[in-house]
Amino acid sequence: MSLQFHTVPVTPFQQNCTLLWCENSKRAAVVDPGGDLEKILAAVDERGLQLEKILLTHGHLDHVGGTAALARQLQLPVEGPHRDDEFWIAQLPVQAQMFGFPPAETFTPDRWLAQGDTVTVGEETLEVHHCPGHTPGHVVFFHRAGKLALVGDVLFAGSIGRTDFPRGDHDTLIRSITEKLWPLGDDVRFIPGHGPMSSFGQERQSNPFVADKRFG
Ligand SMILES: [Zn+2]
Ligand SMILES: [Zn+2]
Repeated sequence: MSLQFHTVPVTPFQQNCTLLWCENSKRAAVVDPGGDLEKILAAVDERGLQLEKILLTHGHLDHVGGTAALARQLQLPVEGPHRDDEFWIAQLPVQAQMFGFPPAETFTPDRWLAQGDTVTVGEETLEVHHCPGHTPGHVVFFHRAGKLALVGDVLFAGSIGRTDFPRGDHDTLIRSITEKLWPLGDDVRFIPGHGPMSSFGQERQSNPFVADKRFG
């Protein structure tokens, strides 16, 4: 496929910041720049890519903490998450203090995303799926041609996102996974916000929280 990716674990939470790029144009997006910008930019340079935007799955510090600085430094537009995560982004300085992170600046995305939107990376297009539950404004990016999804903290290999945060909701998260992600196909591989990749089919078989047999 002509959409390529490389993940760069960042922050003490080892968040999977992902570089997505279009092989034809070498234009790239950074998905969830939580921090460690020098690591991210080194990965960009190594591959001879040109960054054109920042994409965000949700408003948690470990996913967006480096956004304001990176956007300013390279004059990049910020797309996502859904507007329902505005309160999380507004609280970034507080989140940073709470978790002992370096001071994090708040910002305003250039574009809020909603269910059914699309975003582009070079000549490639990804679908936006609104998947609330972990946070109310969480979005998932899906590249249909490449059967690849970036799911943030919605779903992990063998687990699911926490729902004990303000405006988190377990049943809503389960519905997001089973009603929005599963229909995309068992053969879809996904990059989670933390930990190794997996596929929707694998999780439907063995994930203790959302395997099909739990609902049969
Ligand atoms: Zn999160
Ligand atoms: Zn996270």
